[in-house]
Amino acid sequence: MPQSGNITAPLFNAERSNDPLKVLRQIYGYDAFRGKQAGVVERVIAGGDAVVLFPTGAGKSLCFQIPALCRDGVGIVVSPLIALMRDQVEALKQLGVRAAALNSSNSPEEFAAIRRALAEGELDLLYVTPERIVTPGFRSMIGSLRIALFAIDEAHCVSQWGHDFRPEYRELGHLAEMYPGVPRVALTATADPHTREDIIDRLALRSAEVFTTSFDRPNIAYELVERDQPRQQLLRFLSRHTGSSGIVYCLSRAKVEETAEWLNAQGINALAYHAGMDRAVRDANQDAFLREEDLCLVATVAFGMGIDKPNVRYVAHLDLPGSVEAYYQETGRAGRDGLPSEVWMAYGMADVIQRGRMIDSGNSGDDIKRVERAKLNALLAICETAGCRRQAILAHFGEAHQGGCGNCDTCLKPVETWDGTEAAIKALAAIYRTGERFGTGHLIDVLLGNENDKTSRFGHVDMPVFGAGKDLPQKTWQSVYRQLLAAGLVSVDHEAFGALKLGEDARSVFKREREVRFRKDRPKAGKASRSGSSAAAGSRALLAGDDLVLFEALRRVRLEIAKSLEVPPYVVFPDTTLVAFATNRPTSHEALLAISGVGQSKLERYGDDFIEAIRTHEG
Ligand code: ADP
Ligand code: ZN
Repeated sequence: MPQSGNITAPLFNAERSNDPLKVLRQIYGYDAFRGKQAGVVERVIAGGDAVVLFPTGAGKSLCFQIPALCRDGVGIVVSPLIALMRDQVEALKQLGVRAAALNSSNSPEEFAAIRRALAEGELDLLYVTPERIVTPGFRSMIGSLRIALFAIDEAHCVSQWGHDFRPEYRELGHLAEMYPGVPRVALTATADPHTREDIIDRLALRSAEVFTTSFDRPNIAYELVERDQPRQQLLRFLSRHTGSSGIVYCLSRAKVEETAEWLNAQGINALAYHAGMDRAVRDANQDAFLREEDLCLVATVAFGMGIDKPNVRYVAHLDLPGSVEAYYQETGRAGRDGLPSEVWMAYGMADVIQRGRMIDSGNSGDDIKRVERAKLNALLAICETAGCRRQAILAHFGEAHQGGCGNCDTCLKPVETWDGTEAAIKALAAIYRTGERFGTGHLIDVLLGNENDKTSRFGHVDMPVFGAGKDLPQKTWQSVYRQLLAAGLVSVDHEAFGALKLGEDARSVFKREREVRFRKDRPKAGKASRSGSSAAAGSRALLAGDDLVLFEALRRVRLEIAKSLEVPPYVVFPDTTLVAFATNRPTSHEALLAISGVGQSKLERYGDDFIEAIRTHEG
């Protein structure tokens, strides 16, 4: 069985090259750089600074790892979470790279070993937490060393604007003066211009070259549905993903726990994760998610930053996220390996009210609140669009997409629209006549002519608008109000408990100066039928028949190796490499090395285990 190397003795002893392409091929087993990776690598090797804004899965890690291997000295990587450092270091060790992580979980022996390795120039990469790197102790430890570069991972943590703000990141701006001449590279998958400016500004990267790529994630299929029976809807979605891992996001801790419990009762292997849990349990659940291949993690947004698991096959949202940015980042955790993955969200008007209330009760200033409300409406507009979701999402980030992506629910099953001008006038009239003081529930009662305590008490039963909407069912009116909100024709008054008010353009609708079109609600999906997109996810989408049988056998081999090394399976090989094994069926070292993801070290460590499994299968 393979051995996990210690930090200073890589199994791979070949002469290390300074040529980045050679390093890419020999160590990582990849043929060529992807997209702008080559540009970043070249600049940093030459000593320049870089800001790397690539979406998740684009391959940011290589952008600092390869320059660190090609330059003299140790590369220092700032990373915000200890659990992630550990896995990255483990993955590097499997590649034969000499890496270590310095953090509060080190034992005194580990600490001494790292210190010694550093002093003797035996480390290629050292991962540290942001709070550690600026301490005098750390400074004196690396003071006399040659430093290849500083990499600042998850660089958006420096911005108060984003959702993962870490005050310690602010201190990293001093690295420039503390270590002049050492190149710095900041990396993030967060795209918005405000965060980007903050990174450049706060990390003193004015002279850095900024590398960006398209933020499209073509392997992710989008589906957004109106919430109806959320648990059944979720179950139907999860039934498309039996045997793979994914994340279900909920807004509250209580809902996380209830949902996880309910899923288990339905026979789904689910665990909970939120910040209020006992730390040990929470860490154990995160670990299980990284290591097991058939686990549904039900979590609040406290979970996920920097999670490197490449084969997250789905992300589901049971509640509306806070913004398009948050939605994109959370869904972006799916399909890092580039294989087909699905993301799904169920939303309703109640979410919009609840989110709005959270914004208004927060302690940020009025300006920020206004921006946050605008962000929420932008997300709602994406939920309610009848056009391509991908186009709408990318447009939000200022990126043009021609639409018709063929991999979102509205492209796969175009939604019908209807002329809603009359309905819009009635819906707006109900708001206006009742004094802009009521929420959707009451407004719909008025439109439907439901006599109840509230409609009688306020005298609404006597108004002409009372019962004017009997021609449409309640669900349609809910949809009408959501779409009016998404179109900015109405707004929510959160101070008045979610009362709807007329938007600026409502007048033009009353005057029939503009036509209003609404998307039709989708017919309710039956129990067994699949709703929305029908993209098969993951490796199963690429493999069939005997190849799939072999793939499953190789997965078992991988799991066994991973267990013996106490690492997540993807650290051994990603799914994409196993897919290539199953289809190309290499049975020699040479053939194995030709496959993407097989470098010299992994070949030596466990190449034979896979060759044997392939031979057994073929024999
Ligand atoms: P990011 O940090 O941008 O989300 P990663 O660095 O984790 O992305 O890379 C995502 C996946 O793509 C990893 O499995 C990585 O090994 C793989 N990868 C990166 N660069 C290349 C490349 N040039 N060729 C093939 N695979 C690559
Ligand atoms: Zn589309």
